[in-house]
Amino acid sequence: MMSFNELGLSSPLLKAIEEQGYTTPSPIQTKSIPVILKGGDVLASAQTGTGKTAGFTLPLLENLTNKKVDTKSTKGKRPIRALILTPTRELAAQVHDNVQAYSKFLDIRSMVMFGGVNQKQHIHSLRGGIDILVSTPGRLLDLESQGYLSLANIETLILDEADRMLDMGFVHDIKKIIKLVPKKRQTLLFSATFSKEIKALAHDFLVNPVMVEATPENTTAQRVEHSLYRLDRTRKTELAVKLIKEGDWQQVLVFTRTKHGANRLSDKLEKAGITSAAIHGNKSQNARVAALRKFKDGGIRVLVATDIAARGLDIPLLPHVINFELPNVPEDYVHRIGRTGRAGASGNAVSLVGIDEEDYVFDIERLLKQTISEKTIEGFARSSTPTPEDREPPLSGGGRFGRNTPNKNRGSGRGKPAGGKAPGQNPKGHKPRNSNNPDEKPTYKRRPRRRK
Ligand code: AMP
Repeated sequence: MMSFNELGLSSPLLKAIEEQGYTTPSPIQTKSIPVILKGGDVLASAQTGTGKTAGFTLPLLENLTNKKVDTKSTKGKRPIRALILTPTRELAAQVHDNVQAYSKFLDIRSMVMFGGVNQKQHIHSLRGGIDILVSTPGRLLDLESQGYLSLANIETLILDEADRMLDMGFVHDIKKIIKLVPKKRQTLLFSATFSKEIKALAHDFLVNPVMVEATPENTTAQRVEHSLYRLDRTRKTELAVKLIKEGDWQQVLVFTRTKHGANRLSDKLEKAGITSAAIHGNKSQNARVAALRKFKDGGIRVLVATDIAARGLDIPLLPHVINFELPNVPEDYVHRIGRTGRAGASGNAVSLVGIDEEDYVFDIERLLKQTISEKTIEGFARSSTPTPEDREPPLSGGGRFGRNTPNKNRGSGRGKPAGGKAPGQNPKGHKPRNSNNPDEKPTYKRRPRRRK
């Protein structure tokens, strides 16, 4: 097995790695670090939990340190030389934490920016001059259009969780940002899945990229044991409580499809005596950070999250994931269960499947090319005469037909919906924008360019 020494990183970085307690590079690190050090473009398939952040941050820091900065055009101020774009605030904050940890022994300045917080602090930090900027697309374009920052000196552009950025409707923002950075640059694109759209983006913006994969495309981590229970939707809370209590699960990440569902479930778990918090796009940044901290510290047993909010959460060694509702995008299933079994530990993911979710099971199994094993618990089998409530998918929040589409447009539960439309299409046959992100649409406002 390779060591960090052999990858060509210099001693300040090796020292920081040692402080983090990493002994051996992860597969994505072994593959991506040498290519990035040589200055090549990279198209990497890697989920959170594979060590991808260090995979691009370590060689980035090495390259920035080794190259002399030209501050002539910036009147002696440090120009922004690297831009890391992330889809969510949580991921931005987490990536920046990593950048800071790894650059501890280097003369590198970095900062993180995202929407939802006052921009004054960002502007103040930008004035001081920074080398690496980690940002979500909206706030970046906002401050750029106001003249507070320039991307003209970017040497390396990193798109982290690019698939999620596209899912969230950021494609136009990404294209705008790419126009603002120099043509001659290094571009690194990290994505959990390689969809057609990602491949198109890579084709347009990367030059002869080296493809690296942490795990084979769209396959679930081998070490994650995943299974499902088929039951009536009205009994899901009861089963979740039973599994958590009787299994003595102490740290459980539970996914719901909607933010209201997350709140409701969290309340119900609390009432059942299981400490819990919900985390989603309607919560303030502070509330999300506080909930996550409590969860990590063992202050609460359950974190209920929507897909978007959970994206980028850095929760090492997570033992249990419950899909309280299956995601309507099959790739999200891969992301979700990838949250368990991290850093070599074994993980366990269970899905609670109502009769209205059989289509999703079908899509997920087709993507994984495997059948998810079914478990049963006495007393929880699906009733042979489901109530209308059991049959209907939740109304709010980005079902397959977009938000709040009446159920009458669906078929009768199993099989394809009425009208014969393909999954993910609305009755007009168009894929709805943001169909799978009820939480966090980019809702920033453009301000007019500031006059100088
Ligand atoms: P990431 O996939 O970047 O979100 O990283 C997932 C977790 O793995 C983070 O908690 C990192 O601190 C940790 N990590 C990254 N690289 C290594 C490594 N080589 N050895 C052990 N842990 C690592």
